[in-house]
Amino acid sequence: MPVANLKSHVAAAMRLFHVPADNPDLMRAQFNAFSKQVPLLYFILMSNTIAVAYTYVNVAPDWLTMIVPSVLTVLAGLRTYWWLRQRHLVRSDADILRNLRATNWLTLPIGAGFTAWSFALYPYGDPFAKSQVAFYMAVTVIGCIFSLMHLRSAALIVTLIVDVPYVLFFFATGEPTLKAIAVNNLLVSGAMVTVLFIYYRDFADLVASRKSLLAQQAATQALSDENFRLANLDSLTELPNRRRFFAELSSAFADAERRHVRVAVGIIDLDGFKPINDNYGHSVGDRVLIEAGKRIREVCEGFGPQRVEFARLGGDEFGLVVCGDPEDTDLMRLGERIGGQVKLPYQLDTAHTGLSCSIGFALFPDSATTSEALYECADYALYHAKRHQRGRTVIFSSELEAEIRSRGVIENLLRTSDFGAEMELVFQPIVDAVSEHTAGFETLARWNSPRLGWVSPADFIPAAERIGLIRPLTQVLLARALATARTWPDHIRLSFNLSAHDVCAAEGILPLISIIEKSGLSPRRIDFEITETAVTFDFVRAQQSIATLKAMGCGISLDDFGTGYSSLSHVHRLPLDKIKVDRSFVAEINENPVSHKIIKSLAGLCDDMEIACVVEGVETSAQLDSLRRLGCEFIQGYHFAKPMPADAIADYLANERQRLGEPMRAAAGA
Ligand code: C2E
Ligand code: CA
Ligand code: CA
Repeated sequence: MPVANLKSHVAAAMRLFHVPADNPDLMRAQFNAFSKQVPLLYFILMSNTIAVAYTYVNVAPDWLTMIVPSVLTVLAGLRTYWWLRQRHLVRSDADILRNLRATNWLTLPIGAGFTAWSFALYPYGDPFAKSQVAFYMAVTVIGCIFSLMHLRSAALIVTLIVDVPYVLFFFATGEPTLKAIAVNNLLVSGAMVTVLFIYYRDFADLVASRKSLLAQQAATQALSDENFRLANLDSLTELPNRRRFFAELSSAFADAERRHVRVAVGIIDLDGFKPINDNYGHSVGDRVLIEAGKRIREVCEGFGPQRVEFARLGGDEFGLVVCGDPEDTDLMRLGERIGGQVKLPYQLDTAHTGLSCSIGFALFPDSATTSEALYECADYALYHAKRHQRGRTVIFSSELEAEIRSRGVIENLLRTSDFGAEMELVFQPIVDAVSEHTAGFETLARWNSPRLGWVSPADFIPAAERIGLIRPLTQVLLARALATARTWPDHIRLSFNLSAHDVCAAEGILPLISIIEKSGLSPRRIDFEITETAVTFDFVRAQQSIATLKAMGCGISLDDFGTGYSSLSHVHRLPLDKIKVDRSFVAEINENPVSHKIIKSLAGLCDDMEIACVVEGVETSAQLDSLRRLGCEFIQGYHFAKPMPADAIADYLANERQRLGEPMRAAAGA
């Protein structure tokens, strides 16, 4: 056998007596199993030792029969105590290795010590006592090998350190009985060592397979955790998603119900997000959503003392759950902080910054008794904010509740109403600012409900939109308005309001076109008024509808300019003929320098773009004078006339002719 080969065999043999350091899991398992068997080991050792010492107490010296066993018993007791304590301690891998190694090498002096003690006693005994020593040593070593099963190296050390001197010693005595016991012991120890190898290998395998099973379990758990996370996460913003939001809401709601505390739901809607998406493309829109989501999340995380859960519900809508007994003032404070952050500029290529948000809140138990109803209330509060307090926070209240009830009544009665019989039209003059001649009339709808009396279009037009009846209603009203306008002098124009649903309908505005064609009124005498909100609703469709009307020869007016999301890009990208400045600016034109400035710049803008400027809501001659000075072309408002029924128009125009002298043809954009 070559020397190198021999060396490697010796090294392998030596390794059997070491505690391997390369398998921490095995070490840990050994340590645990071992710590349970150590008391057994010491029990075998000490009870056998005491039995032998007892037999020799009268024949051998005291230091051998009393002192040495007492000291060994005390040491064994201490060591047992130390091991018992290990069961409750959490140890590092390095610690475990150190302790196992110490234990391993400790078996050497312990084994040698007990062997030497046995041999020292032997000469004092009679033949019976002598064979007791042989028996004691054989039984004890087998017991120890057995107890040290989990620490193979230690078991082997004990076997060698006891059995080799044992066989030599008893063969040297020449006693046939003792020699036979030595042979027996050797054979049984050999068998024990074989079992030890088999058992140790199985033990190591078991630890390894348990480890891989645990790893597999951990991997499966990680995968299912990840699936859960993804199923509850919005992929764009990485915020909790709609599903997560409703789960959070129902658990927070149940908790609040049980503890008799308040909980609030909030819905946030970004104002002016759609135009960003339409005008700058989806990738810019996505970035704005991510950034807005991040800012709102930061507000929520830093808010206290209430806990706020935040999620993206979809589109540009986000949801809040406010736990921890919030008051109205807490919700307003939260709303203001969120609004403040959303309004800050966004870093985009195009440097567009026009974004704000409206928020609706509803509180349990004040507003609703189920989490679904609570969400509905928050949604209505949001709707209210968007309509009347854009960019603000609205908390659902008893007034809003009453409003919902009356909305429901209006919707129900509108469903069964006979448009032909109950709807009427009134007409309000649009006057040339300089000549003061009527240039046209705006048609305004009135509903004379048999149950409710006169209902404002501000109430029933949105109701008709909600219940999907606006388009048939528009058709009835348009046909009637056109028929009325046919009776007017040729230079008088007709303005007709279209709703978002009219201009953004999937089937387009074909029904309206055929009504215009059938009416016999020249499309060149008609202006369609469309609000900014209607345009932003679906810009592409609105653009198509407007182009079609334009191609027929109709005029297009942008209504309520300045109230919605004022994107000048609409003015540039739509073929507009007129802009109607909302009456909210006129009311304070002489009192509020800001209003004055705004109208001035709008008039300038219209002038630059060669679009006519119509100012609504003019009630006083002072307002009229200011507007004239600013160069506004057309005026509409109670100063000239309130909306009037169709049959009052002829008299009105006759009076006007009388008042102003000979008729002057005011060319209203024709
Ligand atoms: P609008 O198109 O902005 O119409 C102007 C509103 O201001 C009218 O209210 C008119 O009566 C009112 N108004 C006119 N001059 C003055 C003034 O000097 N002072 C004040 N305080 N108010 C003035 P109205 O008739 O209640 O209509 C409200 C809104 O309902 C309209 O706002 C329009 O958006 C909508 N609407 C009315 N008729 C129709 C219709 O036939 N179809 C559609 N889609 N919407 C309509
Ligand atoms: Ca209008
Ligand atoms: Ca208007």
